[in-house]
Amino acid sequence: MDDKVRGSAVSRPSERAILLDVQGLRKTFPRPDGGELLVLDDVNLRIRDDEIVGLLGRSGSGKSTLLRLIAGLSQPAGGLVSYMGERVTGPPPGIAIVFQSFALFPWLTVLENVEIGLEALGLPSAAIRRRALAAIDLIGLDGFESAYPRELSGGMRQRVGFARALVVHPNILLLDEPFSALDVLTAETVRTDFLELWSDGKLPIKGVVLVTHNIEEAVQMCDRILLFSTNPGRIIDEITVDLPQPRDRLEPSFRSLVDRI
Ligand code: ADP
Ligand code: MG
Repeated sequence: MDDKVRGSAVSRPSERAILLDVQGLRKTFPRPDGGELLVLDDVNLRIRDDEIVGLLGRSGSGKSTLLRLIAGLSQPAGGLVSYMGERVTGPPPGIAIVFQSFALFPWLTVLENVEIGLEALGLPSAAIRRRALAAIDLIGLDGFESAYPRELSGGMRQRVGFARALVVHPNILLLDEPFSALDVLTAETVRTDFLELWSDGKLPIKGVVLVTHNIEEAVQMCDRILLFSTNPGRIIDEITVDLPQPRDRLEPSFRSLVDRI
């Protein structure tokens, strides 16, 4: 990606290309009593080029389920997910996920954990190595290539999670509560580093979906926030976060939103 500074683009957000289009998405799971649990009902959202969109909802509201559907890891009971104009029926190469629990392989080094993200792309091994090292360097883990996950702090483990997702140069990065397993100070550091890379145009991605139950995090990180209800999960409202100082102006009003989700 060319070096560029985000936020200076002249095009209005509504004119930017649609990366992801989710229409009427519905998802049910079988219940032990033989019935059905309706987890997602009529979920509609669009992610455009150059934006970070937050999905703010309580635990159990279906946020991870929605990300799995977007990533093609699970199939909906109704509705559809389109990525770059194509219907998603399996994992598309342009979408990568960072998980809350890091999901690293404990028996692999940092470098090997990141390289595994590239396995499916069929690149020559020299290119795999080069890209993995670049992703590790970008995310601030230079010098830890040979370390094993157990030798790293939580924040560093999640940086490996980010590197493994970024190494494929996805168009869309799905973040499933990536900071919620970290202590608050570490979370703040990893978040700020990520945002700085994003703002400076240094991340090889076009759009981000951030799932969170943390209002401050959503306001800090997102251009738009979708409010997600529980039982069933639906998007009940959308808030645009105005830069450059969203926290000061929006935070009090966001607190009252808690009652609505
Ligand atoms: P969130 O990520 O918002 O915390 P989830 O998407 O993980 O919520 O879960 C939403 C609901 O769907 C929960 O009630 C959960 O128990 C249920 N659920 C999620 N995955 C499955 C599954 N594979 N089988 C049955 N129920 C599931
Ligand atoms: Mg979840």
